[in-house]
Amino acid sequence: LQERLSGILDTLTRRGALTEADVSAALREVRRALLEADVALDVVRDFVETVRERAVGANVVKSVTPGQMVVKIVHDTLVETLGSDARPIDLNAAPPVAIMMVGLQGSGKTTTTAKIAKRLTERGRSKVLMASLDTRRPAAQEQLKILGEQVSVDTLPIVAGQSPVQIAQRAMQAARLGGYDVVLLDTAGRQFVDEALMAEMVEIEKATDPHEVLLVADALTGQDAVNLARAFDERLSLTGIVLTRLDGDGRGGAALSMRAVTGKPIKLAGVGEKLDELEEFHPERIANRILGMGDIVSLVEKAAESIDAEQAQKMAEKMRKGAFDLDDLAEQLKQMEKIGGMQGVLGMLPGMGKMKKQLEGANLDDRVIKRQAAIISSMTRQERRKPEILKASRKKRIAAGSGTRVEEVNKLLKMHRQMADMMKAMGGKKGKRGLGALFGGM
Ligand code: GDP
Ligand code: MG
Repeated sequence: LQERLSGILDTLTRRGALTEADVSAALREVRRALLEADVALDVVRDFVETVRERAVGANVVKSVTPGQMVVKIVHDTLVETLGSDARPIDLNAAPPVAIMMVGLQGSGKTTTTAKIAKRLTERGRSKVLMASLDTRRPAAQEQLKILGEQVSVDTLPIVAGQSPVQIAQRAMQAARLGGYDVVLLDTAGRQFVDEALMAEMVEIEKATDPHEVLLVADALTGQDAVNLARAFDERLSLTGIVLTRLDGDGRGGAALSMRAVTGKPIKLAGVGEKLDELEEFHPERIANRILGMGDIVSLVEKAAESIDAEQAQKMAEKMRKGAFDLDDLAEQLKQMEKIGGMQGVLGMLPGMGKMKKQLEGANLDDRVIKRQAAIISSMTRQERRKPEILKASRKKRIAAGSGTRVEEVNKLLKMHRQMADMMKAMGGKKGKRGLGALFGGM
């Protein structure tokens, strides 16, 4: 599907003028993409209408096709809806500040509680107390205790026979007496939202007056996300959402649904089982993931401003003649760096996700580009023009000068040779081959 959407939008970008029918066609595909990313139906409908309103009558930026403009509007609207402002956990209240974690069973509440505790202790230097109010699941309180030991955060001593509200009250008291800054209240969950659970949450909220009430939700929740978010939001004063399992295969459509329904910020994202696998929420990333495409417009813009047309012309001429020397390679590397390196280029191209992974495996990151550029700049002018004169002693000097190793120098020379050969083979073919050749040559 991601490929399909990219494909459609891609065709649009190539077309000259964009008719209203084109916009509608594009939005039909966007709609389908969102549904397949498991965004709730109502949310999709509203979103598409918002985009339609913006798209119609929007000025098309010079040097960008109308189709690219639509892509950008879809993307920007998505980022905006997801919340472009970073919203950290708010501890701005009289200590002990209570943070209540709510959500369904298995959503990741307990794990996230420990993750947040670790983060607040290490980065915020807060003194944190964790308490498990989960009296339903056997060993739930022990689970939190063990996690507490792992992250060196105190947990409220377990006392058998207390109700969740009693435990919550005891936690607040212990925090006051112990001089804690923050109390994290990990609550029980159910497979489904039910009245007993909600009533219990409301009571706990009343008893502790939490400064933050965070809904923890699995990113793979799907269509249920809306009902889930609504149910919790109606009864509790939710202050934010934590999305877990963003490390999974899900497209993250739940993020859009929950954000749209509650209007509450997505504050954090769980990206793994380990206790340091908690991140700020990045709307841009999720937007790209939900749509399954990169930011085409920004590629176009960046590329347009950084790749000098004249330079490209000259390069093309050289390639035709098969006279591609190391100065030219250095120039290519520079251009790649300008547009954000290989990662940047691939990230912005639709349908490149897989290829990007492969290249990452091949060590083609920006660091490598920098080192390659350093190697070339450690060569004399003559060496750059005639790499064949590079024998062992010169290579040693270059490696030392660029802070690399001789093997790396050899690798670069080999890459250059392959590229030069390929260009020669392409011979009379059209010039604009720079980046393409670089991909192929490595
Ligand atoms: P709770 O019932 O809501 O308290 O959920 P738990 O915190 O006990 O988590 C349930 C399972 O989900 C555990 O196996 C966790 O390790 C796992 N889990 C929690 N957060 C994440 C996450 O962000 N990514 C992944 N892959 N697993 C997670
Ligand atoms: Mg739990």
